[in-house]
Amino acid sequence: MSASLDSAAAAAREESADVRPSGSELGELCVLMKLGEIVLKGSNRKLFERRLHNNIRAAARALPDIRLSQRGAGVIILRMPGGSDLQVAELGERMSNVMGIVWVHLVRRVAKDVESVTDIAVRSTAERTGSFAVRARRRDKRFPMTSSELAGYVGARIKEAHGLPVDLKHPENTVFIEVDKDEVFVFTDGIPGQGGLPIGMSGRGLVLMSGGIDSPVAAHRMMRRGLKVDFLHFSGMPFTGPESIYKAYSLVRQLDRFQVGSRLFVVPFGKAQQQLKSSGMERLQIIAQRRLMLKTAEAMADNLGAAALVTGDALGQVSSQTLTNITALDDSVDLPILRPLIGMDKAEIMDQARRIGTLAISELPDEDCCTLLTPRQVETAAKIGDLRQIEKRLDAEELAEYLATTAQMHRPSFLGAAEPALETAARR
Ligand code: ATP
Ligand code: MG
Repeated sequence: MSASLDSAAAAAREESADVRPSGSELGELCVLMKLGEIVLKGSNRKLFERRLHNNIRAAARALPDIRLSQRGAGVIILRMPGGSDLQVAELGERMSNVMGIVWVHLVRRVAKDVESVTDIAVRSTAERTGSFAVRARRRDKRFPMTSSELAGYVGARIKEAHGLPVDLKHPENTVFIEVDKDEVFVFTDGIPGQGGLPIGMSGRGLVLMSGGIDSPVAAHRMMRRGLKVDFLHFSGMPFTGPESIYKAYSLVRQLDRFQVGSRLFVVPFGKAQQQLKSSGMERLQIIAQRRLMLKTAEAMADNLGAAALVTGDALGQVSSQTLTNITALDDSVDLPILRPLIGMDKAEIMDQARRIGTLAISELPDEDCCTLLTPRQVETAAKIGDLRQIEKRLDAEELAEYLATTAQMHRPSFLGAAEPALETAARR
């Protein structure tokens, strides 16, 4: 069966299994998600949705089976009939890392009658203090009450039960009620999602990943725009210890929360650096090293299906990142180099790194390959002609091809090792 027929059949099965909640299912905990930019897509929206559904299933790996249903353009509901509340909460947590989702709510699914809704709304505010408001909306307009009638009715009952004051403008607690075709969802809180586009929608890229602060943030930014990425780290081995590899590994594992199935390639770079040094690069050493890294990445890209390279460069951050030097880096390869941090301040980048959970790892000490053999003075305006001339003597292209063959692959997985069949499905 083709992939699309497969998913159509799965959707049909889900629809038919999607029975109305009975009294005994009152208050089943589910995950309700609001989508972002996908909603604005025109004729190819279905493609985006299908990709997102696959990514959601991959992220729900090793939890009890889920039932996914797309409600209109902007809402997805996940039910886990065989799961505990704790497992549903874990599912919600994982969904907050799936690209393309803007809000994640743990919701109670209740029968479509006012008393069941009120009962859950009253129970869900039992422990609350401070003011509150009820916000209701109907995706099914046939519901016998208007949204404001429903909100008013439930609000009055909460006030009566707990004595909380109503504040419609700036409430300390909000109770949301969403009326759907077959059921009603009631919830009080949400966690922000990542936003962006489903991973895989924008093709594949290869991230040059140092152990520093910037490159993981750059990776996250591109993943958020739908790029599925692999990672490439250059260690100073055999002249440094393996610490930078451990850091790169932990960073990729952390980033694997946002895309299941990350691959990290590690290239021992020390000897090549020494070759550059002895060919007389001097002030050009750093920029020549970067060019060789990019050339090596380009030599690997084809095999990995990567159509772009990604780096953590920010304009002017260090002397290798002046405009002239960045131009000299672009000159070293044909592939486009994506630099999502180009216009960001270090403080902004650090905030992002903290938010995505990579800062603490990046700040661990290590011996970076680039600090090896660093000249006392770094050229801030590298001349492309000079670089090309020395590279020709050295046969840099061939060296890059050779380095690409020395790459060791690792699979730093956030969710633990996948069963092979599942892993293939996740990578599709
Ligand atoms: P980061 O930029 O990740 O914080 P850094 O500041 O130490 O690390 P820079 O010297 O700013 O690194 O390097 C700029 C970019 O070059 C990095 O963001 C990364 O994409 C790439 N790069 C540098 N060193 C390495 C390395 N050892 N392996 C892979 N890529 C690297
Ligand atoms: Mg940097």
